[in-house]
Amino acid sequence: MGKIVIAIDGFSGCGKSSTAKAVAKTLGYTYIDSGAMYRAATLHFLTNKLSPTNQSDVEKGLATMLISFQLNPETGAQDTYLNGKNVEDEIRSMHVSQHVSELATIAAVRKELVAQQQRLGKGKGVVMDGRDIGSVVFPKAELKVFMTANLETRAKRRQLELLEKGQEVNLEEIQSNLAGRDQVDSSRAESPLVKMPDAVEVDTSNLTFDGQVAQIVQIAQAKIKSN
Ligand code: C5P
Repeated sequence: MGKIVIAIDGFSGCGKSSTAKAVAKTLGYTYIDSGAMYRAATLHFLTNKLSPTNQSDVEKGLATMLISFQLNPETGAQDTYLNGKNVEDEIRSMHVSQHVSELATIAAVRKELVAQQQRLGKGKGVVMDGRDIGSVVFPKAELKVFMTANLETRAKRRQLELLEKGQEVNLEEIQSNLAGRDQVDSSRAESPLVKMPDAVEVDTSNLTFDGQVAQIVQIAQAKIKSN
């Protein structure tokens, strides 16, 4: 039984990250949140007032940015670090959410982050979620999942998540942010969000969290057995 790579792609707010995390835990795999890397890069550009559309700013931003993950012993999760600072909460703010998709359209930024993601997944035994994991980062992934859910369900789930972190944001604002990011992510020239022909689609609109995790784990176990 060989270890496999599990790529989970899909629209914003489908619960990809929490699902991927739970799938990884059940299988004893490493979870890697590629969106957190784009978010950390966005925070770096915002903090240093660097413009994603200015080439020398992009070069400067990439040269001065170190993104890493470290286990948080309290939560058991991998927290995101930017230049040695834990930015796990900061990168989930609406401010970062509003700017991340623009930075994610920049080819040089994608090239750098994709290379890092490929290094992180080299040893297999990983579950990575994002927008281009099955298409660009790991086109040969043994299992590709494409997650969907209707916009209203996604916005309500995201609102609850933010509330749990003490951030009160109204539903319309979240809905328009998710729809806006879907639009930019799906229509960009560089690695747009697409459902690969060999991806299994999982619509989570009417599934419980445990249900969606169980469904993916079951498919993964079958793949692992035959690998
Ligand atoms: O997954 P999450 O919603 O945190 O990702 C934030 C943003 O980062 C996405 O809306 C998208 O613009 C970008 N992203 C990307 N490619 C990935 C992961 C995230 O373009 N693999």
